[in-house]
Formats: sequence, structure tokens, C-alpha cells
Amino acid sequence: MSIAIRSLTKTFGHFTALKDVSLDIPSGELVALLGPSGSGKTTLLRIVAGLEFQDAGEVCFEGEDARDDKEAARQVGFVFQHYALFRHMTVFENIAFGLRVRPRSKRPSEDAIRVKVTELLKLVQLENLARRYPSQLSGGQRQRIAIARALAVEPKVLLLDEPFGALDAKVRKELRQWLRQLHDEIHVTSIFVTHDQEEALEVADRIVVMNEGCIEQMGTPEEVYHRPASAFVYNFLGDVNLFHGRVEDGKAHIGSITVDLSHQQPQDSEKATIYIRPHLFDIHRVRTGKNSFKAVIKRINPAGSVVKVELVSEWGGLVQVEMTQERYRELALKRDEEVFVSPKEEKGFFADYSI
Ligand code: ADP
Ligand code: MG
Repeated sequence: MSIAIRSLTKTFGHFTALKDVSLDIPSGELVALLGPSGSGKTTLLRIVAGLEFQDAGEVCFEGEDARDDKEAARQVGFVFQHYALFRHMTVFENIAFGLRVRPRSKRPSEDAIRVKVTELLKLVQLENLARRYPSQLSGGQRQRIAIARALAVEPKVLLLDEPFGALDAKVRKELRQWLRQLHDEIHVTSIFVTHDQEEALEVADRIVVMNEGCIEQMGTPEEVYHRPASAFVYNFLGDVNLFHGRVEDGKAHIGSITVDLSHQQPQDSEKATIYIRPHLFDIHRVRTGKNSFKAVIKRINPAGSVVKVELVSEWGGLVQVEMTQERYRELALKRDEEVFVSPKEEKGFFADYSI
């Protein structure tokens, strides 16, 4: 079922939590709402679910205003960050709950309920846990059961509010891959709220980046990462170094270095902030060409898929550089050494003139 959100505004007292938010979600898509805490993600999700009401604007399911459609409320499945499973019920009964509370005329038979619950347990790959109680499950298993329970009533829309937020990093990663596979099987239109950019980039068909009650950008993971619409988006989607410089003829001049901004088609400006991701710098032992600055290595962290190097530049600023393990071994870098830092011949820098 497609969802259209039109000029939605929501205030709490004098505080505006959502400002004129518009968004189209095609049927079957998995969309991530990504933004810092307090940006309005939960408020937006609760309005879509019919748990909260907007001050202005509308939410349409398949073109119909959701407020006029009494059925719509029952076609939404909701999964929260904190396990909302019923503690005194087994896994089986938790999943069956939504079917058992239907009015008698719409309630499936005992046999049909058993078939449905067994099917869902299989779908979330927890067939053997039907008789367990929530306290006997791991956090990750509980969230999978919560998703099975939300799917039992065959919702047309699945809303997930930071469903993996309370789990440890490793389980989170497993579950986000699992959720992506599940979505590819069932294709229910889904909105997934997260403040974790990696999670959004990995799971979603499209990402909606939110900031202070507004949408900053909407696009595929590739679009928002490689063609950010604002400094906020560039900053939120990864680590950044920040420099002050000037922009001329599609190039930013920062101290002694120049970076290519032609992809951004920037205007000339005497005063701009230039953002550069740590992996867009390289380190050399000798000055190669003109495009580099001197820096002293302050810290090296080789524990990870990339090596993180922190330096102090010749003008006294902290600079973060990331490189492959191979490059690190090749350079044999040590603390307190003086080296040369240069921007790579790549795109992906970002200039902001709003400051
Ligand atoms: P997010 O989910 O992105 O962290 P929320 O949608 O929960 O953000 O909240 C957005 C803002 O609205 C926050 O500043 C929050 O304090 C405020 N807010 C949310 N719900 C209420 C409420 N019921 N009453 C007052 N303020 C609220
Ligand atoms: Mg929230």
C-alpha cells in the first residue's frame, strides 16, 4: 500500500515537532527515517500509525485520507524499540494475539491460527521457540517475535521505531541483514526509524534524512551519501573534517591545498566551510606535488577494517585520515612523525557557504 504524507505539521505546546513534511512512499518500499534524537521521527511514525494526530496536513493510504478510513488503522503493524511482548504469554500466544482479539465474525478458527503462527515462526526463523516465554529469549529473538506478531494481522504497512536500538552491535548487524531479506520476501510497505546511518544505508531502498522536524533530503542510500543536499546530510552520514577556505571556479582552496568541488557546481565564495571525509585524504612521507600540507601524527588506531590516523596540521587543526591496512603497512607510520597530507583525486568533498 502506498503512503502519501502531505504538508504535515505537528506542535506540542509551543514546540513544533514537524514542519510541513511531505513524503511519498511507493507500495512495497522499505524507507528509513534517519535523523538525530529529537528530529521528529517517532512523531511522524505515530501520526502515520494513527496513534497521534497532526495539526495540519494529511496522511493518505492508497490515495485515501487515513482519517476517513477506519480500516486503515487495523492495516498497520507497529514494532517498538522496547520489547512490547506480553510477558505472561508464550511466543505462540504473543503472535496469535492480534488474530484472537478480532471480532468473532472475523476471527480465524483455532486450526487456521495454528497454521498462521507456524508460518510466521518459520518466516522469522524461530520455529523451535513457540512454547517459550519472552524472558527465555535473547533480545534479538524478542524483536523477531515482535515483528512476527506485527505481521500476524497481515498489515499493509509495517512501522518499525528503532526496533534494534536496544541490542548490542553484533546482533544489530545480523538483524538488519535479516530484516532486509525478510522484506525482500514479503514486500510490505515499511517505514524503519533509526538514528544509525550505517543501519539506514544498509537496510533501506530509500532514506529520508530528518533534522529539527524537517526533511533535509530524500533519496537512495547512494544519492544521500554521494550527493548530499546539505552540510547536515554530509555530516550526519559519516565522519568529517571541517576546514575554512574560499571557493573559486569549482575548486576549494584551503591553506596550501585545493580540492575539486565541480560535482557540486558551487558558487564562488570568499568564505566557505569545506567538509572532507577522512578516507578522502592520503599521507605521504615526502611532499609530492604542491597539493599537500604538513602535519604531525598524534595517534594511530589500526584496530579495524581501516586504520585511523589523527594528526595536527601545520596551522594547528586536528585532522582525521583513514587508510587501508595495506597502505598503513607500506608507510610504516609512527607517532610524532612529520608527514604530508594530501586530498585524493576523487569527488566527495562538500562546501557550505551558509556560515
Ligand atoms: P525522534 O523520534 O526523532 O527522537 P520525536 O518525534 O520523539 O523525535 O520528538 C521530536 C520532538 O518533539 C522532541 O523534541 C520531543 O521532545 C518532542 N515531543 C515528542 N512527543 C511529545 C509530547 N507528547 N509532548 C511534548 N513534546 C513532545
Ligand atoms: Mg524516536
